[in-house]
Amino acid sequence: MSHPHHDHHHDHESPAALRTRALESLLVEKGLLSTDTIDAVVRTYEEDIGPLNGAKVVARAWTDPQYKKHLLADGTAAIADLGFTGRQGAQMVVLENTPQVHNVVVCTLCSCYPWPVLGLPPAWYKSYAYRSRVVREPRVVLREFGLDLPAEVKVRVWDSNSEVRYMVLPQRPAGAEGLDENALATLVTRDAMIGVAQVQAP
Ligand code: FE
Repeated sequence: MSHPHHDHHHDHESPAALRTRALESLLVEKGLLSTDTIDAVVRTYEEDIGPLNGAKVVARAWTDPQYKKHLLADGTAAIADLGFTGRQGAQMVVLENTPQVHNVVVCTLCSCYPWPVLGLPPAWYKSYAYRSRVVREPRVVLREFGLDLPAEVKVRVWDSNSEVRYMVLPQRPAGAEGLDENALATLVTRDAMIGVAQVQAP
């Protein structure tokens, strides 16, 4: 049986990716760039710059009920409304966390990830341990991330692929009532949008 997962796998080896890698090794070899510098840049994209887009989407949804409705009904269109567009036509589906339901995202076969809103996937997201365990024992894995959910909260695990990419709309934290949209966006973390954390009040 064929699986949509495999369609996009080859783009990890695209000519552009190969050129980038070749350029990187050349720069390192010539002493123009250290691998530490490259790691720092990648980390910035994983943790800061990339997830900023998603954080803006979340903050808008928290402050604009019409936008939230649109976002949950058609994630791709609502995210594009803020200027963040998908690559390769992947469909964005946004999952709302509530006091009753907690959503968490994985790609069990590889590392499909909502690039337009979250940037580069972190290393742990691509690890075999996360991909295999979060499906079998989500509560245990979430506890390891520091998120201990009450037993009555239902946990749903969503398996991404090249056609559908998921993003979690975290719960707006209590104690952040006075904050405007921009201030709220600064609270939203990458991990909360993957579903392995909750957003904390300032
Ligand atoms: Fe994948």
